[in-house]
Amino acid sequence: MSKSCHICTRPDDLRPYGPKGEWVCFSCAMSTPERRRATEQQFAAQMATIDGPVVIGEEVGPYPAAHDPRFAGRMQHE
Ligand SMILES: [Zn+2]
Repeated sequence: MSKSCHICTRPDDLRPYGPKGEWVCFSCAMSTPERRRATEQQFAAQMATIDGPVVIGEEVGPYPAAHDPRFAGRMQHE
């Protein structure tokens, strides 16, 4: 099953910031002030669940930097 925007159904540039965590594309997320606000709230709520450094700007949404192999090596204390 492929992902698609729950508003316009396009599969491009999706983020998990719909009102209930639905996939939504960036242009739909920013298409009205209400959607933009809902998107920002969803983003903030997801950020708030993560303790420590966070990776953003990726399709999966914010996640702990420690889970990213690109950053994990740098975060280990030797
Ligand atoms: Zn869309």
